[in-house]
Amino acid sequence: MLLLIPMAEPRILIVEDEPAIAEVLEYNLSKEGYEVGIEYRGDTALEAIRQNPPDLIIVDLMLPGLDGLELTRLLQRGARTRQIPLLMLTAKSEEVDRIVGLELGADDYITKPFSPREVVLRVKAVLRRARGVEEQRELLEVGTIRLDIAGHRLFLAEEEIPLTATEFRLLKIFLERCNRVQTRDSLLTDVWRYSEDVDSRTVDTHIRRLRGKLGPEADRIETVVGVGYRLRC
Ligand code: CA
Repeated sequence: MLLLIPMAEPRILIVEDEPAIAEVLEYNLSKEGYEVGIEYRGDTALEAIRQNPPDLIIVDLMLPGLDGLELTRLLQRGARTRQIPLLMLTAKSEEVDRIVGLELGADDYITKPFSPREVVLRVKAVLRRARGVEEQRELLEVGTIRLDIAGHRLFLAEEEIPLTATEFRLLKIFLERCNRVQTRDSLLTDVWRYSEDVDSRTVDTHIRRLRGKLGPEADRIETVVGVGYRLRC
């Protein structure tokens, strides 16, 4: 059975020190059903984003506290905050070159003056792109093997095959790193997370079981003599 969980409305944080602009954006984005917050300074925005990461950030380039470029740079350093789509607002089109040249990880930019409609369209496009990337990561496919990451389920040509948690982790690593040899040691570290009571024969045992479950796809997991294993893709 497939369970569909209703998704909450995307949360957008506007970081803009000019209240008139911030409010126009807030009004137009709220009207589209987004949950919208405003921060008027770069430094307080950084704090707010780290504490409660939104789904998208709209950042003005010129800000008190921390400017838009510094803020973006700091967000890029955090594993979690790096993934938040970011739309940059700039006052002058010359600044665009600077933003693009710096490759700061802004997903898009808009020059002022802008129409609120344009911003709404860009926001939708950026969110759609971000979601596409997320969906891709949730499903790993090779041949007739389909591993649903979010659901922790394996399908072989549409048939669901039950896996243990360890087998799931093992298969996930093989699929993520397909065609690359995984040594027994690296598998022990990544799948069993350094458990001391596990020896390398455990790896072989689990590989054998996993091959058994993969049926016609079993020979995709190849033994690399003296080294480890590799999943062919
Ligand atoms: Ca400003």
